[in-house]
Amino acid sequence: MKTVSVSIVTPDGPVYESDVEMVSTKAASGELGILPGHVPMVAPLAIGAVRLKKDGHTDLVAVSGGFLEVRPDKVTILAQAAENANEIDIDRAIRAKQRAEERLRKQKQSEIDYRRAELALRRALNRINVAQNAR
Ligand code: ATP
Repeated sequence: MKTVSVSIVTPDGPVYESDVEMVSTKAASGELGILPGHVPMVAPLAIGAVRLKKDGHTDLVAVSGGFLEVRPDKVTILAQAAENANEIDIDRAIRAKQRAEERLRKQKQSEIDYRRAELALRRALNRINVAQNAR
């Protein structure tokens, strides 16, 4: 089985390094599936799950936006934040979700605060989703 080397890197350091058979993720433009030998490309990444298929199982990593760079033998994801499914603190994500929902319910607030709360909610939902799907 052909493989491609994948690195998921954040400002705090590397989160995931492995050779995998396929990478699937959510680019800003839609779902992307990357196999070894894919044409080079760079794409912005949405808040979402990265699925990494290898040896008959799938690793899941929650990514909070960033960039994806594809070369034929190497995929690099530069993410603002990223967590392996088993490193996600679900209680923390649930608390973040509740805080964001509370902020979104409040009437008087600036557009910037609303947008910030929306993004916080999406990060929290993504983490909950990734953690639950991996269990
Ligand atoms: P919170 O309000 O709980 O901090 P957040 O979405 O604002 O959530 P980020 O700013 O995206 O958090 O991330 C800050 C750091 O904390 C990053 O290193 C990220 O990987 C980590 N992190 C955030 N939420 C979780 C979680 N639920 N489990 C594990 N690590 C987390």
